[in-house]
Amino acid sequence: MSEPTGRETLGFQTEVRQLMQLMIHSLYSNKEIFLRELISNASDAADKLRFEAIGAPDLLKDDPELRIHLSFDSEAGTLSVTDNGIGMSRDEIIDNLGTIARSGTSEFLQQMTGDDKKDAKLIGQFGVGFYSAFIVADRVEVVTRKAGLAADATVRWESDGQGEFTIEQLQEGSRGTTVTLHLKPEEKEFLDGFRLETLIRKYSDHIAFPVLLEKDADEGKEETAVNSATALWTRPRSEITEEEYQEFYKYLSHDFTDPLIWSHNRVEGKREYTSLLFIPSAAPFDLWNRDAPKGLKLYVQRVFIMDEAEQFLPLYLRFVKGVVDSADLPLNVSRELLQQNPELDAMRAALTRRVLDMLAKLAKNDAEKYAKFWQEFGATIKEGLVEDKQNADKLMSLLRFATSQSESAKQDQSLADYLERMIDGQDKVYYLVGDSFETAKSSPHLEQLREKGLEVLLLHDKIDPWVVEHLTEFEGKQFQDVGRGQLSLPESDDKLTQDAINDEHKPLLKKIRKTLKERVETVNVSQRLVDSPACVVTSEQDLGPQLRRMLEASGQALPEAKPVLEINVDHPLVMRLSAETDDSRFGDLSRIVLDHALLAEGGQLDNPADYVRRINQYLLDVETSA
Ligand code: ADP
Ligand code: MG
Repeated sequence: MSEPTGRETLGFQTEVRQLMQLMIHSLYSNKEIFLRELISNASDAADKLRFEAIGAPDLLKDDPELRIHLSFDSEAGTLSVTDNGIGMSRDEIIDNLGTIARSGTSEFLQQMTGDDKKDAKLIGQFGVGFYSAFIVADRVEVVTRKAGLAADATVRWESDGQGEFTIEQLQEGSRGTTVTLHLKPEEKEFLDGFRLETLIRKYSDHIAFPVLLEKDADEGKEETAVNSATALWTRPRSEITEEEYQEFYKYLSHDFTDPLIWSHNRVEGKREYTSLLFIPSAAPFDLWNRDAPKGLKLYVQRVFIMDEAEQFLPLYLRFVKGVVDSADLPLNVSRELLQQNPELDAMRAALTRRVLDMLAKLAKNDAEKYAKFWQEFGATIKEGLVEDKQNADKLMSLLRFATSQSESAKQDQSLADYLERMIDGQDKVYYLVGDSFETAKSSPHLEQLREKGLEVLLLHDKIDPWVVEHLTEFEGKQFQDVGRGQLSLPESDDKLTQDAINDEHKPLLKKIRKTLKERVETVNVSQRLVDSPACVVTSEQDLGPQLRRMLEASGQALPEAKPVLEINVDHPLVMRLSAETDDSRFGDLSRIVLDHALLAEGGQLDNPADYVRRINQYLLDVETSA
């Protein structure tokens, strides 16, 4: 038998197939979110049509009242969500409901563990959208007609969620979209007017369009308006409950978890706008992906204008979700116009401050929640230090660190905490960059500082080598890298130049310099060490070793820079070196001392085999001479 004319069977994109399978299992305990997703799509569709109609009012003419309508049929076992919004053309529906365009999707799907709980959380960070219908339905039908197209451009889409969908053209249909779910036999609980009304209210109370539910009544069908149809952010703060804010956030972000905090404000005067900004409780999977969605939802006088308006917040605050509704911007504002609009700089500065103040308040009032924030988004705040000079002070107070006094890599100490613990005579904030907390914590560079009771911030995030370039001063205190240049510690004689410190050991230094001249800039007597024989330090003007390694790994050619070797003249190994009369053994031991110093700060040896040979030889020599 041949298929009806124009009917075509197409396959879902592989990622869609994988997502659907995973979702059906891992989201089962959250299954009713499918309603939120369908209502949110219907509301988006109405928003989009209202926007299009600004320039083309005819689009709305035959059916001007935008609304969302839900109905169910207990006998047929179906539940439908209908909107009279923008609708979809044939090509659009194939794209929109058959593929996922978001970049990084397949990498994301590979992170799935098979553990439902963990996967549910991950999928929550991804957002499931339309496909969530297949959690409760074994067949989904979509009938849609794009606004502005003729009735015979109506399209019917259908799928059982198993990998394929069919599509065919209908001769008739009204503007907008109806999604009909054929519920699985075990999901008939959704065919209950009361249950539906409660759920729909939860998911639609903040939506600006009327949501109507058609229920069975004694005399046939009856329509009830379920929501108040006022956009949440336009209502006074005092009248909005916590739960409503949380639901609105989930609607906006497709996140499953409640937001960490939010801030809702109306600005009046010269510039008028309302903003509602949320901080999520977990980072999205693609926080570090350049193409990931970011930005606020922009409305002008309550008319939806665009998603992902990136111009209202700096890039480092890309994790903020929310809405900005302006009274002044023109309705026909486009991304290009936004970029040129001088009003925008002021709004962006104000919104940025709003976010930073909200975080500062959280840090002050709820350390535990703030710790959670820092764990998820701390690295983006650090990005801010590089990007946003204007708010350097606010950003610095938001930073959290692990220090030489921390038990674990957990970053929970603020600069204010550090300042409070500074010892008498200390006038600097000391820090050290390492590849990991452990390397940094056991670095020889800390030995003197530890002995003197001086705390050191240990920086080990990927971004830290860049960040430290921007750490200059906090509350009048300078920062000092303890792995760089001459270290001046309180009570040590500052006026003593390196030359003076070296003075007593000139012959030894000279001899080591000569031996290692290919590999080190110079050799000095150290003021950093207690237990270790030597360490390497970066000279004042050079790139730190971590930054250098990173840039080299990314293929950049850098001018060669040699480290400075510092030796601990009180260490037995250095004393032995000093007493060594055999030139060849002196050479070997000097090289071993340097190699160990490099290894201790996470570096790699240019010639490990050479090192191994040397140390084996040395061990044998010790053995025989003993
Ligand atoms: P999202 O809403 O995050 O884009 P969804 O999976 O929910 O993802 O929907 C995918 C796309 O399908 C939407 O972006 C939209 O283009 C289209 N779509 C879904 N539902 C509707 C609808 N009711 N009316 C018009 N377009 C829709
Ligand atoms: Mg959606």
